[in-house]
Amino acid sequence: MMADTPHSAHGSSRRSPGTVFLVGAGPGDPGLLTLRAKECIELADVLVYDYLANPLFLHYAKPGAEKIYAGKKAGDHALKQGDTNALLIQKALEGKTVTRLKGGDPFVFGRGGEEAEELVAAGVPFEIVPGISSTIAGPAYAGIPVTHRAFNTQLTLFTGHEDPTKGPSTLDYAAIARAPGTKVMLMGVERMRAITSQLIAAGLDPTTPIALVRWATTPRQQVITGTIETIADEIDRTQFKAPAVAVIGGVVNLRNTLAWFDRRPLFGKKILVTRTRAQAGELSHQLAALGADVIELPTIRIEDPEDRLGFGELVQDAHKYEWLVFTSPNGVERFFTLFHKLYEDVRSIGGVRIAAVGTGTAAKIRENHLGVDLVPKVMTGDGLLAALLKIDGGVDHRMFLLIRPEEVRNTISAGLTKAGAIVDDAIAYRTVPETNDETGAQARFREEGADVLTFASGSAVDHFVALNLPIPAATKIVSIGPVTSEALKNHGLRIDAEATTHDIPGLVQAVKRVLA
Ligand code: SAH
Repeated sequence: MMADTPHSAHGSSRRSPGTVFLVGAGPGDPGLLTLRAKECIELADVLVYDYLANPLFLHYAKPGAEKIYAGKKAGDHALKQGDTNALLIQKALEGKTVTRLKGGDPFVFGRGGEEAEELVAAGVPFEIVPGISSTIAGPAYAGIPVTHRAFNTQLTLFTGHEDPTKGPSTLDYAAIARAPGTKVMLMGVERMRAITSQLIAAGLDPTTPIALVRWATTPRQQVITGTIETIADEIDRTQFKAPAVAVIGGVVNLRNTLAWFDRRPLFGKKILVTRTRAQAGELSHQLAALGADVIELPTIRIEDPEDRLGFGELVQDAHKYEWLVFTSPNGVERFFTLFHKLYEDVRSIGGVRIAAVGTGTAAKIRENHLGVDLVPKVMTGDGLLAALLKIDGGVDHRMFLLIRPEEVRNTISAGLTKAGAIVDDAIAYRTVPETNDETGAQARFREEGADVLTFASGSAVDHFVALNLPIPAATKIVSIGPVTSEALKNHGLRIDAEATTHDIPGLVQAVKRVLA
């Protein structure tokens, strides 16, 4: 605590207000958040966010930042607009940096203008961070350019939802109908029949093409097309719902040739990733890049081994062994994280030879700029043991360091010891069940199921089964390799595909195969 200064003792102890950032969070695809928007999220003491702003972005917030949901789904106003304005002002006057995240662009049908006016009136400093608007991105992700030289030189944006307190319509349907070129409408899916008939009555050609893009730029994106005469029926037939962007005009036909987002190989497929939160990234990323709707449902978490000190000593002594034997990528990671902390020079590993249970593990070793001397043809613990027993000169009196998890059934050291080798076990980590469901993935899987379940380790299988989640009959199960498949078999689960190379790219290929 600072002592009172004479200045504050005289009554002007109020801190200067914090800045409010009115930030466009883009239309949904996390890649469409701007760098400046991300910075503002990181800076915020208070985050106020909308229904349309991707909640994933909250992860960028600094620890302890206050997160407030301001709603804005039609009919669900968690906070009334007036309350939202008051909240932004109140928090700023407390001296806090406030980031107000809005879907799309804050000044395109986002009430950002009103909020900024209130801030000015209250003397609160503010900045605007424009975002990628759904008016442009929605059509783009449906393969529809809003302008195209062959079709239009004009673009009209309008809202199908008006302030209900305003009384008679302020929308000039005649002017909209008369406007040449592309028209993009936000909101108003629920009122489409009324809107299209007004436009037709006002003279718009009933055969004018229209597309509706729902949850644009997200894995849930859904597109329907028709003419302004048929689209209301199409909405009824497909039970199409908000939020959606409507594009009207000849450019809509370009979707036939330019659709790309929803034509990617795994688009719309729900795929469950059961790896640890820390490891899910690479697999999720590759699946998402192919269009999949990825649900990360970690079943296990990697923790330090019981005897951390013992592990550290063995890593330190690694150069004393003739062979280092790695049984998993996690073991490699744990080993080298510590090794690089202990030694600055990679040559401190000595003249050891290195064995890996499979190609994934070997790849992780190579990331440390070390070669791998042995990978068994049969990439299992037993396969590795068999290959080691066949090394030149045999294993008798040779020194092995086995780097492995705590709980694994350990046939390797037993087998080597029996053949006369001197074996030490370096217990690198333990896998424990991931019990909390902070992202709601378990609940979502229970409700919606998935097209494919992916498993990248036997322990992920064991712990998934322990969660007792029902697996729908049509759901395909894909395994990374023989060890994982064996775990699936042990639980009586069917295997629809096993990866041919036992690594993440192999697993992704297997997912593609099983859905082909
Ligand atoms: N400021 C936002 C628009 C807010 S108004 C922007 O620039 O995009 C809310 C309307 O935007 C929704 O009713 C819907 O019509 C549209 N919208 C926003 N995000 C969308 C998305 N991902 N997919 C489809 N429509 C979206």
